[in-house]
Amino acid sequence: MQPAYRGRFAPSPTGLLHAGSLVAALASWLDARAHGGRWLVRIEDTDTPRCVAGAGEAILGQLAACGLLPDEPPVWQHTRGAAYAEALHTLRERGRAYECGCTRADIDAALAAAGRSHQRFGERVYPGTCRSGLHGKPPRAVRLRVDGVLHWHDRRLGAQQQDLAAEVGDFVLRRADGLWAYQLAVVVDDAAQGITHVVRGEDLADNTARQIALQQALDLPRPVYLHTPLVHAADGHKLSKQNGAAPLALHDAAAVRSALAAAAGVLGLAWPPSSTPAEGLAAAVAAWAGIIAGSFAEPREGTR
Ligand code: GLU
Repeated sequence: MQPAYRGRFAPSPTGLLHAGSLVAALASWLDARAHGGRWLVRIEDTDTPRCVAGAGEAILGQLAACGLLPDEPPVWQHTRGAAYAEALHTLRERGRAYECGCTRADIDAALAAAGRSHQRFGERVYPGTCRSGLHGKPPRAVRLRVDGVLHWHDRRLGAQQQDLAAEVGDFVLRRADGLWAYQLAVVVDDAAQGITHVVRGEDLADNTARQIALQQALDLPRPVYLHTPLVHAADGHKLSKQNGAAPLALHDAAAVRSALAAAAGVLGLAWPPSSTPAEGLAAAVAAWAGIIAGSFAEPREGTR
């Protein structure tokens, strides 16, 4: 039997919710409600230099203003260090994690010497230098050893695959500054919270293969994935905190209504005119159930 549906919204408190992040929040809430499941919120505050004081609480307030209330107390990743350390210990024992002493300059030099282009989405594909040991360098980051091509199904994007070794390389689990990497924290916490369905913005789709590789390395179950459409600014750029997306102003009922209606519109859902947030959300759950039955169907067992 399939485990009961558990979904989540996992914002990083590096700023308030904007029009793009509300789409992911709403879609994950709708999917949980349409499945009769539970919806959780996790505040992903591991990257402390990028976190803004008070933003986690403020995001929870924005969600509540929109009628999006988690079914369990929110989990804050800054409290979860012991679980990440335990996972890292397991990976080391299994020979999957290793210390890396390379600086960015070392990686660039190794890639140039091998005649390989070093950028992918602005990130370097790690050439594996420290797989065979630190070569006298002091340890900096800890990386996961990857190989092979991963295949998975995305409920909106369809059949997906990524050659991790060629396209990403051994990736960081604990950073040189000692902070836990997003990939490790998200995989450990999705499993600890029993998440069966991940619904999040398409800007995160590229992380899925790394997360599946970690699930496999730790013997954790793989959730079903659905990546939602992004919101673009007038200049065509993806709306994000990095390029200055305005925080959602939710000061009164009309503002809440228009924010929810806009987010629903991105998901292809009409928002009933002159409805309260609760009425609008109820109509959207019914409409979302129709979308699940059609274009965002669950993968068949065995094809995840
Ligand atoms: N914390 C991540 C972000 O806000 C999202 C994590 C996830 O949904 O997997 O970009």
